Amino acid sequence: MQTLDAHPSGRHFLQIPGPSPVPDRILRAMSLPTIDHRGPEFGQLGKRVLAGMQQVFQTQHPVAIYPASGTGAWEAALSNTLSPGDTVLMYETGHFATLWRRLAERLGLEVEFLTWPGSDAVLPEAPGWRQGVRADLIEERLSRDTAHRIKAVCVVHNETSTGVTSDIAAVRRAIDAARHPALLMVDTISGLASADFRHDEWGVDVSVSGSQKGLMLPPGISFNALSPKALEASRSAKLPRSFWAWDEIVEMSAGGYWPYTPNTNLLYGLSEALDILLGQGLAQVFARHQRWAAGVRAAVNAWGLPIQCADPKVYSPVLTGVILPPGVDADAVRKLIHQRFDLSLGTGLGKVKGRMFRMGHLGDSNDLTLLAMVGGVEMGLKLAGVPLAGSGVQAAMAHFAASPSPGTPADVG
Ligand SMILES: *Cc1c(COP(=O)(O)O)cnc(C)c1O
Repeated sequence: MQTLDAHPSGRHFLQIPGPSPVPDRILRAMSLPTIDHRGPEFGQLGKRVLAGMQQVFQTQHPVAIYPASGTGAWEAALSNTLSPGDTVLMYETGHFATLWRRLAERLGLEVEFLTWPGSDAVLPEAPGWRQGVRADLIEERLSRDTAHRIKAVCVVHNETSTGVTSDIAAVRRAIDAARHPALLMVDTISGLASADFRHDEWGVDVSVSGSQKGLMLPPGISFNALSPKALEASRSAKLPRSFWAWDEIVEMSAGGYWPYTPNTNLLYGLSEALDILLGQGLAQVFARHQRWAAGVRAAVNAWGLPIQCADPKVYSPVLTGVILPPGVDADAVRKLIHQRFDLSLGTGLGKVKGRMFRMGHLGDSNDLTLLAMVGGVEMGLKLAGVPLAGSGVQAAMAHFAASPSPGTPADVG
């Protein structure tokens, strides 16, 4: 293992699903001098990043930007719109859904946690953690709530602990079909800017995101995209909030400023990230991630190991979860790969700890960095004695060679 003072040879392969590899162009932009956050240049920067984030969220409505990790924006979504004792309907897609639930309970909300009713022979300990949200279960629950006690439905768009996405438009249709007034809140912390996400078109009331995943920035900023209905709810909501309060931040941000000191240098980075992403076009960015994900899945299939996501309709374009045979400690394999090849993979979280690891395909990647990841994993699996059906490296090479890349962040740098 490297010590912090020894300069490693070559680059570390940061293949966890966030923080993602940051393009050099963004790191350089962040090294500019810190400026007066009340001065005239800052107002220009603030307006620029807010307008860019509206494009990324695909919304015409306000976006709040916080100097905080994604967890802060989770809290902001709930505390701005709800009152103590309100009931929220959440859905167990994995560890991040479970953490959002815990946060809601700590705020004094009543949580109903829907779970997938099926069973899973490959992962009996966490069957629902291989599936996306079932909108019909949400519709069924809301239809029975004739008194409208449920004030919000909260779902995770891209469940980073599993590599499974959920159909957010279907959740909106379910709420509408039940003729229920609940707000729809969506965690797209790891989905935004890698997987297609449409705040307005999908009728989302509060979208929650963060900087260190698809936006290719270091950790430290997070976002709420709002709807008019969410803003309306915030006027009567009684949960205490001050730092997170939308009224001040939305009003000041309209002029490009914040009620407190925002993290200036991360906003330089955000401005650069928006130039890269919007310069390429979101459709191209989404296509690139889909193609990478298919290449990585080709490798996992060639190894003969189960992909955590059991439903091909909702494979994540951002990361792929790999389940190891019973009795193999996935964390020991990860540790070996890190020590031998300077490659970091995502650990199994919560119920799936030790059973799986996660391969990230987001951020500043390209075909060859992903092949390096696949190569490091293949060597590590063999060294750990995991029986493999075939070569994932060969399968991924065949996939990447068969179609040209629709562009990488580097090609415009
Ligand atoms: C990373 C992540 C979070 C947590 O965000 P932090 O920045 O660690 O606070 C929450 N939800 C999802 C889906 C994530 O990927």
